[in-house]
Amino acid sequence: MIYYKTEEEIELLRESSLLVGKTLAEVAKLIEPGVKTIKLDQVAEEFIRDNGAVPGFKGYNGFPFTLCISVNENVVHGFPSERELKDGDIVSVDCGTIKNGFYGDSAYTFAVGEVKEEVLMLMKRTKESLYLGIESAVAGKRIGDIGYAIQSYVESFGYSVVRDLVGHGLGRNLHEKPEVPNFGKRGRGTKLKENLVIAIEPMINLGTKRVVQEKDGWTIRTADRQPSAHYEHDVVVRKGKAEILSTFDYIEEVLNNK
Ligand code: MG
Ligand code: MG
Repeated sequence: MIYYKTEEEIELLRESSLLVGKTLAEVAKLIEPGVKTIKLDQVAEEFIRDNGAVPGFKGYNGFPFTLCISVNENVVHGFPSERELKDGDIVSVDCGTIKNGFYGDSAYTFAVGEVKEEVLMLMKRTKESLYLGIESAVAGKRIGDIGYAIQSYVESFGYSVVRDLVGHGLGRNLHEKPEVPNFGKRGRGTKLKENLVIAIEPMINLGTKRVVQEKDGWTIRTADRQPSAHYEHDVVVRKGKAEILSTFDYIEEVLNNK
């Protein structure tokens, strides 16, 4: 069953989603060659708790950390670790919070030092595809319109869309109905109605769309070990224009001042 939110619930979702954006900005401050990814996790957890919330991923289906940190060929669900980021890496950081009973869930892919132009373009276009998907998240359209917008854009550059993982409804649960694939056909799937809250999160690969799971039981990586990018926003379906609850503004303010 799909659960449409009241305006009061949307305000709580907004609070949680904004906190995720602020947390990712704290992470952004630390991203540079030599930083251990476990350090990013520690800083994020402390920041979330200092802001009266709890990490949304920690303990979710047994996930052991606050952040999913996925470097280069790792697509999503990577573990923070003693691994040091190095010049030329890209790192996708996915963060969830629970505040007042509602989840926020947002992700951003960062460049570490000097990254190859080809990979910077993958990141840029993946983020653009997220906003194209959001443009389709309006009342009267269908779930397939979102996926179509993302897929047709990124495939025009020769990239591929991960099929095994998808976006989702968001509320008191991290993953609610409906599923929001990053691929699809126009006019197909569940009809979008006002006050549906969804997380849209394209995972776009430079090479093959095929992914595999690592032995840790969580980390998803590209089968050909080429890089993958991931951006995620929480969005309310409205008439005419979707409303974005999460934000990259805090993150990009940090990045622009680096
Ligand atoms: Mg996420
Ligand atoms: Mg998500």
